[in-house]
Amino acid sequence: MPKLDAFAALYPGIPSSVMLKIDLVRRGVRLGDAPVGTRHYHHHDERGQKALGPRAHLQGSVVLPDGTTVFIAQNPASPYVIQMEPDSRLTLREGPHGELICDLTPGPRFAWTSRRTAQQTPMASVFTPSLGGVCGPVAVFLLRHCEFAVDGEECRFCSWVRMGKSQEMRPNVDDFRETLDAIWQEQHSIGYLAFSGGSLFDRTKEADAFLRYMEAVRHTGLPLPPTVAAIQALDAKDTERLRRAQFDYACYSMEVWDEAAWQDILPGKARSVGRAGWMKCLVDAVDVFGEGHVLCNFVAGVETAVPGLYPSPEAAADATLRGMRWCYERGIYPKYATWVVSGGAAFEDREPAALDYYAHLVVGRQALYSEFPMSVPSTDCRHCLTQSVEADLALLDAGRYGVGPAAAFGQEQRHRVAHVGSDTI
Ligand code: SF4
Repeated sequence: MPKLDAFAALYPGIPSSVMLKIDLVRRGVRLGDAPVGTRHYHHHDERGQKALGPRAHLQGSVVLPDGTTVFIAQNPASPYVIQMEPDSRLTLREGPHGELICDLTPGPRFAWTSRRTAQQTPMASVFTPSLGGVCGPVAVFLLRHCEFAVDGEECRFCSWVRMGKSQEMRPNVDDFRETLDAIWQEQHSIGYLAFSGGSLFDRTKEADAFLRYMEAVRHTGLPLPPTVAAIQALDAKDTERLRRAQFDYACYSMEVWDEAAWQDILPGKARSVGRAGWMKCLVDAVDVFGEGHVLCNFVAGVETAVPGLYPSPEAAADATLRGMRWCYERGIYPKYATWVVSGGAAFEDREPAALDYYAHLVVGRQALYSEFPMSVPSTDCRHCLTQSVEADLALLDAGRYGVGPAAAFGQEQRHRVAHVGSDTI
């Protein structure tokens, strides 16, 4: 396995499959005809997906031989290809000669995503499988419109805003009930339920939509997994409304840390709330939701795409680690996702962040676990953290990286692995 050996030689302190996961996420894959991924019902990313061809509608996950679960999305320029062998094995290959790297297990593909409700609504437009998680997490996208795009102020990594027609969806309790019931029946497991969508300059109005959706989901009467509102940072009054609506977690993502990075990468958020205002909202939210129940995500690596912002990949990673430390010191749980260069995003033509960046970041992030006792949120487990490697590191090299709350037990067993039906898409 020369590829894995090469990773081991370059980054001897990190399991080679972890570096392979990061490389697969940041560079995407060519999916060939492999039976992998689920059609992503795209109410967003239309331009980018059209440019990439029909297989760009697919996203999902694959599982490496050691159990590492990897988010995959189509990138026709990727050196990696996933293919089905004549003996029906699924393999990962690389390069012009298709050198074998390893066998793969496909992530789940759920039949409910191709069904319709009684009202003929595609179920995959009611709930969406989230990031290929093997424990079956789902997302609901409300506010399928982002006002930041109107004047070209969208977040530079975001491809959602290139949607064909902007629309705000109205929740329908019957569709929710039927779809959620179908998901429980088939999957038996839902890792988490994330509410997400575009942004409005009127953040109270943005919060209104989240409340309406949560109310509709609760009216189904069906059990809910841990819920998270991924929304712009709200002022304390609106944060209290989220909590009263019984969201378990609020996720106010800073995405990048430094002020300069905010200006270059988050022009909409910089104008809407501003970095200082965002940080105040995060701190205030801890008083409402409690320590460890306010999340802040970083799009790890996108800050390296701004020329001249940092002198080295390691310096950029250190900036994000400073942001994570700031979060921890204030009772906020820091998360990260490996930056995926997405078709349709303003930064669609930028190079992915260097592997050296990630090697520095992930080691530093694991070290923070040993310093801060804050629990891993119940929305996270190894089976759904498909774009970050903290759970993989904790399990694969427990002595070095499974420290503090990163310890293996919760990460591996928190969400049950979803039952994968034989009736695939
Ligand atoms: S707030 Fe940023 S990430 Fe969210 S939809 Fe708008 S542009 Fe995209």
